[in-house]
Amino acid sequence: MAEVLIPSLFTKRSGERAVPRFPKIRPGEFCITWIGHASFLIQTHDRNILVDPNWAKWLKVIKRLKRPGIELHHLPDIDLVLVTHAHFDHLDRRTLRRIASDQPIVVPVGVGTLVHDLGFNIVHELDYWQTVPLEALKISLTPCHHWGARFLADLHRGFGGFVIEANGRSIFHCGDSAYFPGFKEIGERHEIEIALLPIGAYDPPSGREVHMNPEEAVQAFLELRAKKLVPMHYGTFRLGYEPLDEPLTRLLARAKEAGIHDDVLVMTEGQPVVL
Ligand SMILES: [Zn+2]
Ligand SMILES: [Zn+2]
Repeated sequence: MAEVLIPSLFTKRSGERAVPRFPKIRPGEFCITWIGHASFLIQTHDRNILVDPNWAKWLKVIKRLKRPGIELHHLPDIDLVLVTHAHFDHLDRRTLRRIASDQPIVVPVGVGTLVHDLGFNIVHELDYWQTVPLEALKISLTPCHHWGARFLADLHRGFGGFVIEANGRSIFHCGDSAYFPGFKEIGERHEIEIALLPIGAYDPPSGREVHMNPEEAVQAFLELRAKKLVPMHYGTFRLGYEPLDEPLTRLLARAKEAGIHDDVLVMTEGQPVVL
């Protein structure tokens, strides 16, 4: 573990933070802004959704090496928050407390106790394949191959990914997952258009099979039958032995081999993209 931690301590934090310029979004469009790591702002023409918001400078002893792409106070009003699981890089109670202003939050079963006291209106706890309609949005929890304990003994906590459906279009936020056969089923049950897939932390100190590597992310993308692959979960926190820039290099190489290079959208933190 020290081999992963110690180099981070002496690395200067990088990343620019400009005042974001959010484009005008028309009905039927999605605007996606990568905050960094697994955090995204997803906007429709009339709704602002945050997934796995995390503005923390540290995850306990692990230093954030890239600043969030936008400052928290520059966010638009948030209508809905989604949290994929209780791990510290995805569920940051301090960030959530700052965002909470009586809007709903959706989490997997067993995670509600970690967010119910932070100022949200209603906590929706979902099991796999369950869907909650929230006005014009449909939010569904999908399975993954991971684990959910925030500490050690709280193994009852659920974990998953989300499909966000709006105006006949869809975005899939995978959460954290090892490669597993379930991607095919997710693609069969939901028509996935844009897939936000994790590509980092595949070489963890624990040696556990809990995160995909970039080649497996390409495989997952193909099995999901999605149209756009947006890589995430790399470049912000050093959670594995791999160098911070290795996941993206490997992803682009594999995507080229697989003939899907044009389907990969590499985002820059803080720069909104309308799709
Ligand atoms: Zn995790
Ligand atoms: Zn993670």
